[in-house]
Amino acid sequence: MQQFDVLIVGGGIAGASLGAQIAGQVRTAIIEAEPHCGMHATGRSAAFWLESYGGPHVAVLSAASRDFLANPPADFSDHRFLRERGAVHLTQDVLPELPEGVVSRILEREELERLVPGVRPKWRRALLEPGCADIDVAGLHASYLRKFRREGGTLANDARLESASFADGLWTVRLNGSAVGAAILVNAAGAWADSVAEACGMRPIAVAPKRRTMVQLRVGRSGLRDLPLVDDAAGTFYFKGEGDRSIWLSPHDEIESGPCDAAPEEIDIATAIDRFEKAVDWPVEAVERSWAGLRSFAPDRVPVYGFDPVSPPFFWCVGQGGFGIQTAPAASQLAASLLLRREQPAGLDRIDAQVYSPGRFYRN
Ligand SMILES: Cc1cc2nc3c(=O)[nH]c(=O)nc-3n(C[C@H](O)[C@H](O)[C@H](O)COP(=O)(O)OP(=O)(O)OC[C@H]3O[C@@H](n4cnc5c(N)ncnc54)[C@H](O)[C@@H]3O)c2cc1C
Repeated sequence: MQQFDVLIVGGGIAGASLGAQIAGQVRTAIIEAEPHCGMHATGRSAAFWLESYGGPHVAVLSAASRDFLANPPADFSDHRFLRERGAVHLTQDVLPELPEGVVSRILEREELERLVPGVRPKWRRALLEPGCADIDVAGLHASYLRKFRREGGTLANDARLESASFADGLWTVRLNGSAVGAAILVNAAGAWADSVAEACGMRPIAVAPKRRTMVQLRVGRSGLRDLPLVDDAAGTFYFKGEGDRSIWLSPHDEIESGPCDAAPEEIDIATAIDRFEKAVDWPVEAVERSWAGLRSFAPDRVPVYGFDPVSPPFFWCVGQGGFGIQTAPAASQLAASLLLRREQPAGLDRIDAQVYSPGRFYRN
């Protein structure tokens, strides 16, 4: 039986980024159930970096990830992963409060009309968050997997963890067809986080997958490439330009789901279009495509990084909700230092690792 120091379950952005941080230091493998990595949440995101998103414990990870995404080291990537776009948070009455430190300014109606021509009159004001950017998600994910392999990591696709047991200081992990040994197991299984924990005999922490729908629409308006991300500050829709005449739109849905290959439902697509038509006066010409993915949240919607407080050595890297891409650089560095029991990297000294500890679910 092949043996590793660390076995990571899941080859999405969470598993790939953590694997890339540690593969040069300990014998590491990633097992991914699907034939290709990134087929679930990672390959279905809306692909933006928005600092105000997700509350203060997420914002601090997003902010700490920005430099890496904007200017990655040359040996990691030869191009930037961010493209500036800006975000406009629309409101009918009270302006939203953004987390401390997020740069923003108020847009009165006249300036709003210049940035989002055709915006309906009921949106009286807005907040502009200029730092919002698109992320090249496929490029980032591929770069992490490349680094993982270059540093000696082993990647196995079509390799699903069926069950695991721990004895004499070693996990024996039964896959579909073979078995592998590891000193430490990492749960980076996204929507499957609780089922993987249970299959390993660990207590689940109630990670809840929630479906979100995305629609690509062609609209009767051109010049949308640089349109800001436009959202309702009250959280009922968002859209951004995709090419010259199309947009990516979401009804901001959050529908409870089991772990699965999520697919969009007609009603959610119709809701998205209805909300879009109440936001701007642009004619909808065609639904070009639609998709859905699962955003998985811990009960307090803060991601979970750290060893399970109950032995054996089982490390949680889950609950990345709708922010797993934009936080990946800092979150993977933080998780790597916790996993290898090393000092927290200098650039992350504002971050309190305790906040993300799975121990918080064991206190009551
Ligand atoms: C519609 C949508 C929009 C989003 N927009 C954004 C955005 O704009 N910005 C942002 O930062 N984030 C966004 N997100 C969130 C982001 O996509 C996720 O937080 C992130 O992809 C989670 O990564 P992951 O690796 O944890 O999960 P996944 O990518 O789902 O990876 C988990 C992997 O584990 C594998 N697995 C499961 N069980 C097993 C097993 N037993 N054995 C082996 N492998 C297993 C699965 O096959 C899967 O590939 C969005 C998500 C959605 C759905």
